[in-house]
Amino acid sequence: MSVTVVGGGIGGLSAALSLLAAGLDVHVYEQAPVLGETGAGIQISPNASRVLHRLGLGEALARTAVKPLAFHQRRWDDGRTLQRAPLAGPLEDRFGFPYYHMHRADLLAALAAAIPAGRIHLGHRLAGFTDRGDAVRADFANGVRAESGVLVGADGIRSVVQARLFDARQPRFTGCVAYRGLVPAGRLRHLSLEVTAQVWLGPGQHFVHYFVSAHRLLNFVAVIERDAWTRESWTDHGDPADALAAFDGWHPQVRAILEAVDDTFIWALFDRAPLDHWSVGRVTLLGDACHAMLPFMAQGAAQAIEDGATLAACLADAKGDQAGALRRYEALRIPRTSRLQAMSAENKTRFHLPDGATQQNRDAQLAAGSTGWSFDAIAWLYDHDPAAIADRLG
Ligand SMILES: Cc1cc2nc3c(=O)[nH]c(=O)nc-3n(C[C@H](O)[C@H](O)[C@H](O)COP(=O)(O)OP(=O)(O)OC[C@H]3O[C@@H](n4cnc5c(N)ncnc54)[C@H](O)[C@@H]3O)c2cc1C
Repeated sequence: MSVTVVGGGIGGLSAALSLLAAGLDVHVYEQAPVLGETGAGIQISPNASRVLHRLGLGEALARTAVKPLAFHQRRWDDGRTLQRAPLAGPLEDRFGFPYYHMHRADLLAALAAAIPAGRIHLGHRLAGFTDRGDAVRADFANGVRAESGVLVGADGIRSVVQARLFDARQPRFTGCVAYRGLVPAGRLRHLSLEVTAQVWLGPGQHFVHYFVSAHRLLNFVAVIERDAWTRESWTDHGDPADALAAFDGWHPQVRAILEAVDDTFIWALFDRAPLDHWSVGRVTLLGDACHAMLPFMAQGAAQAIEDGATLAACLADAKGDQAGALRRYEALRIPRTSRLQAMSAENKTRFHLPDGATQQNRDAQLAAGSTGWSFDAIAWLYDHDPAAIADRLG
């Protein structure tokens, strides 16, 4: 069976690898002239690293990925520990696969390098498609046409494929913007930063930092609430001085990191409401194209990676009924991704509580370890194994 994947982001490329591993004939079409990702970090939890390792990427990831020792939540002003949950060794022992911090470009390069030559077509922007019942024809803006048994829209939050299948509405602004950037680790040596995911919670905003690129760079994400986003672009160069001013009064460690920043992007955060369906006939969706979420569970890309593995399992078992296989795929995936979309949105409120009784209650729950980050509580997320679905189908 042949599959056209539209979009060469983390979702599209990891899906292509899962589909190739299942024996399908896959081609990826990406609108950009070169593959690229934002200059920023990404957290890859074991539910996603399980898929990537099984695709043979373990060694490639190990070259640049950082394994954080812990997930450390702290209070915005005095830096008090609110919760510290182990990652690294204990997590790997429990879930069988690592938690990684990576530069996005390193992850995308590892995915692309594993795809055989001639299967990624750059400079191809999907303009439209026609599902003829026995095959799907994709039309690209450069005049190229491609025919395949199934078409997968992995074309991101502003998905053309989704708009054509279901919903031409724009994604919704979540009321949050993020300053993002990377700082050379050498510049921050005086802070003796531990190798953890540090999440600083404060009124109306939060700050995240972790090392990437074999500890050479520190990635930061500084999220603040805003009533509106008026610019045309979702990403723009931000002024590091504005980011620093937004974190006035915060702990010296947070401010010292922002003071070391040369360059930052300001990024408006959008999401979408869960969809009831992802597929029509021989066409389906994957990743941000169907379940864009706030990044406050660090699961958008992880879920895209799971999507690809589940899709491959369903299509490998299609027995000539591609539309039926796509319905099984969406039925397996939608409850899980919808839950994560909701949890990510709830974390906006939880992370940004103003100081007061509700915040004290949250902090007490964090101290008691009853907020979802213990291994038992998070097992529903990290234990997930798309290969088990393949076994069930088989
Ligand atoms: C601040 C922030 C932090 C995050 N942190 C994490 C994290 O720690 N962990 C995590 O798992 N997730 C995280 N995410 C979410 C994650 O970045 C996304 O969920 C993920 O990158 C989506 O991948 P995708 O391939 O579905 O979409 P995209 O990355 O948007 O890729 C879509 C691709 O399709 C191409 N395309 C679009 N239209 C067309 C067309 N018409 N024709 C051809 N090609 C087209 C685009 O050029 C692009 O290359 C974060 C997000 C943000 C904003």
